[in-house]
Amino acid sequence: MTNSKKIGVLAFQGDVLEHINATRQAAKNSNLTCGIIEVRTKEQLSDLDALIIPGGESTVLQKLCERANIFEDMKKIKNIFGTCAGTITLAKTINNKEVGQRTLGLMDIEVDRNAYGRQAESFEQDLDTKLGRIHAIFIRAPKIKKIGNSVKILAKNDNEIIICEQKVNGNYYLAATFHPELTTTVFHEYFLRQIYI
Ligand code: GLN
Repeated sequence: MTNSKKIGVLAFQGDVLEHINATRQAAKNSNLTCGIIEVRTKEQLSDLDALIIPGGESTVLQKLCERANIFEDMKKIKNIFGTCAGTITLAKTINNKEVGQRTLGLMDIEVDRNAYGRQAESFEQDLDTKLGRIHAIFIRAPKIKKIGNSVKILAKNDNEIIICEQKVNGNYYLAATFHPELTTTVFHEYFLRQIYI
């Protein structure tokens, strides 16, 4: 049995429970032990091995993190998995941003917010990924328009990158424009594998 790791799910909005359940199931499938906690405070963030940032609304997410005074500290987490608004939060560059919108700027990706259009343009799609075929749900999703040299693509939908990863300075980031927590645990399992290496 490997040592146990502590994984936090940012718990202000979005699929918090779904991410907790997907992570728990992923750990079970991978025979790994981990503690999973909801994160809303500096204390809860302080000794995490990894953080999951769920979807939601990136501008609101930023404000809630700033109000809790954890936005800057999130940059210190070594392993981060962002989905949808979480991906926007990880990105170095965002287009179509709100006035005053900032990101953690950790991952070398350029992201267009709300690139598929309004909420009504949300969609579901079966598609192939490096981890097999999945059912992907896109909810007012962003598009990843550009990636840096060290960013690796794990799946595309038509020509759009929908999930990618980057190892940089000993840190690991995984970013999805869709919501894996709703339909599959394969990416949570993949994320855990990077943490337990
Ligand atoms: N449109 C949202 C944003 O700009 C992201 C949507 C989502 O996380 N499902 O943050």
